[in-house]
Amino acid sequence: TNFSELGLQENILKAISDLGFESPSEVQAQAIPILLEKETDLVALAQTGTGKTAAFGFPLIQKINFDEKFTQGLILSPTRELCLQITNEFQHYGKYSPGLRTVAVYGGASITDQEKQIKKGAQIIVATPGRMKDMLKRGMIDISKLAYCILDEADEMLNMGFYEDIIDILSHSPKEKSTWLFSATMPKEVASIAKKFMNNPREITV
Ligand code: AMP
Repeated sequence: TNFSELGLQENILKAISDLGFESPSEVQAQAIPILLEKETDLVALAQTGTGKTAAFGFPLIQKINFDEKFTQGLILSPTRELCLQITNEFQHYGKYSPGLRTVAVYGGASITDQEKQIKKGAQIIVATPGRMKDMLKRGMIDISKLAYCILDEADEMLNMGFYEDIIDILSHSPKEKSTWLFSATMPKEVASIAKKFMNNPREITV
């Protein structure tokens, strides 16, 4: 497979070319056409290092309306390091998508600084569940028009004790949205989140 066969637009294809990615990894080849074809929930069993960030990142950026500033996509990720890594990758993916802003929020750093970044407009937020829940509760973040929620390394987030926070965040987001869950393994708690919050998800395993 070639990236140009997956349904990606020119702004993304140019960014991919600059990144030097020659062909899609397996999870990308499987997930991207599914996510671009129509609105759907997705459960993807994939380890880290398989290229899953781009597997959700490319379709997400393609679906964001850059002319609108409100938050349309939320990525929940287990650690500060991963949040920063994803946000950094997204800067590259969005190189030819003017107006796109991706903001990271995570614990252990100034909440007011993060609030300022959000207030400037963030179509995409990359967050650890604890800080996200805290900022939602304080009214610092509005996800009332969220269209896409990505749970990255869902098993890791649950291992770290974020089950209640994730439930809380998802319960406060619109029902009408697409949820894409990525996990290396499928323990009971991950299956429970999928069952509670996802609607007939497509499933892929790499
Ligand atoms: P991830 O699993 O998303 O953490 O990605 C692992 C690494 O693979 C990252 O450094 C990516 O930049 C890189 N990568 C992702 N997709 C591709 C691809 N199709 N071709 C080459 N490198 C890639």
